[in-house]
Amino acid sequence: MAKIGINLSTGSLQKEEIIVGIDLGTTNSLVAIMHPDSKQPVVLREFDSSSMVPSVVYFDEYDNPIVGEAAKLFLESSPERTIFSAKRLMGKNYVDVKNNHSFFSYRIIDDNTDSMVKVQVGDKFYSPVDLSSLILKELKSRAEHILKTPVNKAVITVPAYFNDAQRQATRDAGKLAGLDVLRIINEPTAASLAYGVGLERDNDSQEKIIAVYDLGGGTFDISILRIADGIFEVLSTNGDTHLGGDDFDQAIIEYWLMNNGIERDEIIKDKSLMQTLRLKAEQAKKTMSNSAQFDENINQLSLLITTEKFESIIAPYINKTIECCKNVMKDAGLSQSQIDTVVMVGGSTRVPLVKKCVSAYFQSEINDSVNPDEVVALGAAIQADILSGNNKETLLLDITPLSLGIETAGGLMDVLMPRNSKIPSKASRQYTTQVDGQSGMRISVFQGERDLVKDNRKLAEFNLTGIPGMPAGLPKVEVSFLINADGILTVNAKEIRSGIHQSIEVKPQYGLSDSQVEKMLLESIENAKEDIALRALTEAKTEGEQLLKTTEKFMINNKNSITADELMQTANAMQALQLAITMNDKNLIQQKTEELNDISRPYAERIMNEAIGKAMSGTKI
Ligand code: AMP
Repeated sequence: MAKIGINLSTGSLQKEEIIVGIDLGTTNSLVAIMHPDSKQPVVLREFDSSSMVPSVVYFDEYDNPIVGEAAKLFLESSPERTIFSAKRLMGKNYVDVKNNHSFFSYRIIDDNTDSMVKVQVGDKFYSPVDLSSLILKELKSRAEHILKTPVNKAVITVPAYFNDAQRQATRDAGKLAGLDVLRIINEPTAASLAYGVGLERDNDSQEKIIAVYDLGGGTFDISILRIADGIFEVLSTNGDTHLGGDDFDQAIIEYWLMNNGIERDEIIKDKSLMQTLRLKAEQAKKTMSNSAQFDENINQLSLLITTEKFESIIAPYINKTIECCKNVMKDAGLSQSQIDTVVMVGGSTRVPLVKKCVSAYFQSEINDSVNPDEVVALGAAIQADILSGNNKETLLLDITPLSLGIETAGGLMDVLMPRNSKIPSKASRQYTTQVDGQSGMRISVFQGERDLVKDNRKLAEFNLTGIPGMPAGLPKVEVSFLINADGILTVNAKEIRSGIHQSIEVKPQYGLSDSQVEKMLLESIENAKEDIALRALTEAKTEGEQLLKTTEKFMINNKNSITADELMQTANAMQALQLAITMNDKNLIQQKTEELNDISRPYAERIMNEAIGKAMSGTKI
């Protein structure tokens, strides 16, 4: 039975269940909806409070969670029970965060497994998924309170650099909070939607290239989008997952400590003082966006800083973002003059020096007309509206940050979906067996840019079993990759002749840190020359080994048709090839492969012709 809802705040009938857009941020989170009357996206806020819900969870003495502004109050007094920046822990294991321990004032523990880190509060343990779900639950209940209607469906945004594991973790958190997560979308895609480019029919035919510069509290993302015919396409992304306004705050603290002649080590254990300094530094930073200095005292410490000084200490961080901008432009193959609009996202883009540097780099005016804190949530609401069927003309395309492929002979990476492939998308390739009668094939899925799989990241592995007995090379196994709109990968392997097939959904590998994604890209560039040489050698060896196997088989099957001289020459050439393979000499392997081919070709042809002749003589026309 269909039900019709009534929106009690507007009085209008709701034929469709409402879908909210959620920006689950490192520092703050927001919910937005498409307003049913104005048809404009709006962020949800209680009458007098901010639309931003701090992404902070405090656990009281009975372990009851308190989320948002109220929780933030405990950052100073109860730092061990107050969890901030949980988004930084999403999909990570202990090794990933070990080096950043001093950043977190709560306990992060290692449970000796490959699974995600846990946060310990008293004698209870919480995963980042649990913590994010508490934030989402709070957002859901606030939205329900404001809208006076149940909220069960959502679109949630994630940074463009989030890998499959982190996207899946976000999805899990939504589920745990009682939300049906219809789509996970990239934050820059949402931001560009909020600027409405490409949404108007009039502009459809006009292609636009947009740079989305997103500097939040803890992460930096730069993305290049192409928008044409109502289609949003991410051309390239880059960023630094450990760079943001928090670093500005830390730089201010360092400066104050230095000015007061205090070593960091002296007070680092005083967690409550460190938190006070953190909050004061943030306050100073915001003040300096509009004035020339900040001057306060606490506990006989002078907290004075001029805007000029502030700009000089944060310049290195801003320069780092500009380096990322250069890389993203290189990846997209574009020059600054081809960028039509630069969109600013994230609270830290309010810093005047940030605006100045970004504008200078792109040699154009920057676009900051939409509130940088709200822009992502507003875009998520537009996406939610599209999903509810209200805006059928728009399609969204995102991209994969790293190449996806499988392991082939010799431990080589065979890429099925190159990095920066649009998603959703599909790719497939045929493979065959290497050994006669081989009944199984191991499909190992990897992510990364290196030529050898051992240097890449293994995502999943499974065995395609039950391949009917056939000579090597005859079975045709088609491996297909299907990456859905959320970036979740399904790998399917099918033996075409027999139809047997098996598939796997790449389960999240909680463990790859965001910075590893960047590291993997860098390493692939640094090792490109060696990798190419190694790939060439491995390919030559595999081909040589394959030829040795087939020649040996041919000799055994046709021993009566081969002369003693041919046998001797072949045996010598096989030995020479085997030696070249052992010596790992690519050129020699190729030369010896060719020689063996030259020796065996004449008698192989002769024997084949004889066989055909025999077959023909028995055929009556
Ligand atoms: P987001 O992660 O996008 O919510 O961004 C939050 C970051 O923006 C935090 O580091 C804030 O301190 C910073 N921020 C917010 N408002 C301002 C402001 N007026 N000036 C400088 N930084 C700000």
